[in-house]
Amino acid sequence: MENDCAIIQSIKEELKPYNATLVAVSKTKPNSDIEKVYACGQLIFGENYVQELVLKHEQLPADIEWHFIGHLQSNKVKYIAPFISMIHSVDSENLLETINAQAAKNNRIIDCLLQVYIATEETKFGVDESELQKIIENYLAHNYNHIRLRGLMGMATNTDDMNIVQNEYKRLKSIFDNIALLIAKEMQFDTLSMGMTGDYKIALECGSNMIRIGSKIFGERNYNTL
Ligand SMILES: *Cc1c(COP(=O)(O)O)cnc(C)c1O
Repeated sequence: MENDCAIIQSIKEELKPYNATLVAVSKTKPNSDIEKVYACGQLIFGENYVQELVLKHEQLPADIEWHFIGHLQSNKVKYIAPFISMIHSVDSENLLETINAQAAKNNRIIDCLLQVYIATEETKFGVDESELQKIIENYLAHNYNHIRLRGLMGMATNTDDMNIVQNEYKRLKSIFDNIALLIAKEMQFDTLSMGMTGDYKIALECGSNMIRIGSKIFGERNYNTL
């Protein structure tokens, strides 16, 4: 990766008109790379794997805000509950309950996003619209004092056809707006996490206010070094 802060600065400039937040996705990348980006003033980093995240959290500066963006199993929540800032990938009631219980044990409040399935691929995780409705109703019916349901996350189909991507992001934005309208009185539902290296400009145009950028910042990932 490049040694200067030009990339971070230019992404942040692009985000300004949208009031959007940058999550630097550092999965598979060594601590030395993260330290370089941290030195540019970037404090929010996203990780996909619990074990890798726990180690990085122990070794890197304490003021980093860690976001979990990968598929999360309920039995692993306890490892990240002591420090995680936001979990983007909540995809079941059970997981939401577990996060609440583990946050309570740590005397914390954890911000959560529900991951919605918008892609046409079988490989992407997330809930469909009817499951989403149920999870939100369940959330409203409980007093989950240790989580804040802040919004939604989605991943578009991995394709070069930007019309497909744009339609998926527009759909997620409209789902987000409908929910926000319904529950605005009850909670702060204000975060729409969509957009990665290949499609974040489209995501921003479609209403994203949190983008998750990995390879544009850190270079291509090599999963074999894990
Ligand atoms: C890896 C990953 C990203 C970053 O992808 P890039 O294309 O490298 O920007 C964003 N979101 C999720 C959920 C990821 O797993």
